[in-house]
Order: sequence, then C-alpha cells, then structure tokens
Amino acid sequence: MNDLTGWSVERLHDDHAQALREDEVFYDSRTEHQRLRVFSNPTFGRILTLDGVVQTTEGDNFIYHEMMSHMPVFAHGAAKRVLIIGGGDGGMAKTVLKHTSVEHVTMVEIDAGVVDFSKEYLPGLSEGAFDDPRLHLVIADGAQFIRETEGGFDVIIVDSTDPIGPGEVLFTDSFYGHAKRAMAPGGIIVTQNGVPFLQGDELTNTMRAFKALFADWTCYMATVPTYAGGPMAFGWGTDSDARHVDLATLQDRFASAGIETDYYTPEVHLGAFALPPYVSRLMP
Ligand code: SAM
Repeated sequence: MNDLTGWSVERLHDDHAQALREDEVFYDSRTEHQRLRVFSNPTFGRILTLDGVVQTTEGDNFIYHEMMSHMPVFAHGAAKRVLIIGGGDGGMAKTVLKHTSVEHVTMVEIDAGVVDFSKEYLPGLSEGAFDDPRLHLVIADGAQFIRETEGGFDVIIVDSTDPIGPGEVLFTDSFYGHAKRAMAPGGIIVTQNGVPFLQGDELTNTMRAFKALFADWTCYMATVPTYAGGPMAFGWGTDSDARHVDLATLQDRFASAGIETDYYTPEVHLGAFALPPYVSRLMP
C-alpha cells in the first residue's frame, strides 16, 4: 500500500515518517505562526497537527499531560503557582488544574489560533480549563515572557512544539537561564524533550543547560504512541531534592489529591526516572 491519499504523513525525520489515516478533516488553515490541522482517526480520535507534526490526540494525550503535570506537582508537594509555556490545546492546563492545591496557572501560548480552535474542535482536551478562574492565559512568545516575568513559579512546564519554528527559542540556554530565575525556591522545571531514540541531541542539549543551572538535573520517560519512535523524555531541573521523595509520601499526596488518572501512579512516578543505558548515555 503506497497510496497515502487520505492519510496525514508526519515527516519529522529524514528517513522515516508516521502516517495516520484521516477519516474527517475538521480544520486546516494557517495562523501567522504555523499551519493548524485537525482530523479524526478511528484509533486516536481527533488529532491536532502543527506544521504537519502531531501535537496531541484525544486518544493518547492523557499519558503526556499526566506525566508532565502530576510528576512535578506531586514531587513538589506544595505547588501553588504554575507556569505553562505553550500548551495551546489546553490539555496541560486542564490536568494541572485538577490539583485543587494549585492556586494560579499562567499559560503563555504564542498562537491564539491554537487556543481558539482547540476550544472549538478539541473541547475534550481542555474540558473547560480556559474558563477556570485560576487560569491566566497570556498570548505571547514564551521566550519573551520568561525574560520579563517577576517569576515566583513553583512549577514550570514547557509544553512546546519541537525545536523547529516558533518552538526553537524554548530550547536555548538563555530561555532555561531565565526560567531558573523565574522559579520560586524549591521550584521544578519539566520540559518536553522529544523521543531520545530519534532526537538524542535535543535531550543532550537541554541536559547540558540543566547541568549548569540546577543541583538536580535528569530526565524521565513515558511512551506516547503518537510521538513515534519509542519512549519520550521529559527534562527535569530543580535545586530541591524533590526527585527523591519516597513512595509512601507520593502515595499520601496522590490519595489526598483525589485525582483519577489513566497513566500516572506514584509507582509509575518513581519508575519513570529509571533510564535505559541508551538514554543515560545521552546525559552530559
Ligand atoms: N504535546 C506537544 C508536543 O509534545 O509536541 C505540544 C503541544 S502544544 C500544542 C505546543 C504549543 O507550543 C503550540 O500551541 C505552539 O503554538 C506553542 N509554542 C510554540 N512555540 C512557542 C513559543 N515560542 N512560545 C509560546 N508557545 C509556543
């Protein structure tokens, strides 16, 4: 079968691609920043692509959003102010806001078009998060925001596209340095760092910056089916000892939060930091 008419083909890599059958196309247009497209697929439900790259799907977004939200918030234990860079579909904001202990979420998204049309075509992702009074949505370049913010964030989540196009500035030493300054004492930053089997340099570069900035720096793993190529890595940087919180404490925090999950558990939390050699060899 070489005829891929009616399929969305993601060409993030030079020598192989990911193809997803399009049953119905709901939206296909350009904003000033990128090409937005939403289509449906029997397995993954509605799928958002930006410049042809899968950003999130109704089917498997829970893995990514739970692992980028619950990991830092439960490890921190008292996170009240959270910053999300990117996250225009609203899935990350929804997941963070499930923590009633979180009092304020600032979400800095460069493309208003992603927010507007995610509300309309992917409402299942944000599930009303954009109407939560704790959410403060800022339409701006995250790199500019991080330079200018007064900071005080307990958790920073970089839910960006890959380091191409508008997302590129979110993978720089300058961005990470300003992010460190914007963190409250004990703060934690987590970053979307791609699939190490295919994008190892991306992880190494972020880890090199984190090594220079944080007392504790590493990554953790989870497999998201539509981020093709194997488990993906999430950067972890903090001056706290939050990574070493024990299982019993995590279990208490998880039980107290009363949040229903489909991927995250305290046991998965601790296991996610166990890196296979092909990934730990990417550490600087
Ligand atoms: N889960 C996806 C992934 O792992 O690739 C990311 C999802 S989310 C849709 C990515 C968001 O980052 C997009 O809405 C995009 O507009 C936003 N973005 C890209 N560059 C940005 C920047 N410099 N500042 C703020 N938001 C940015």
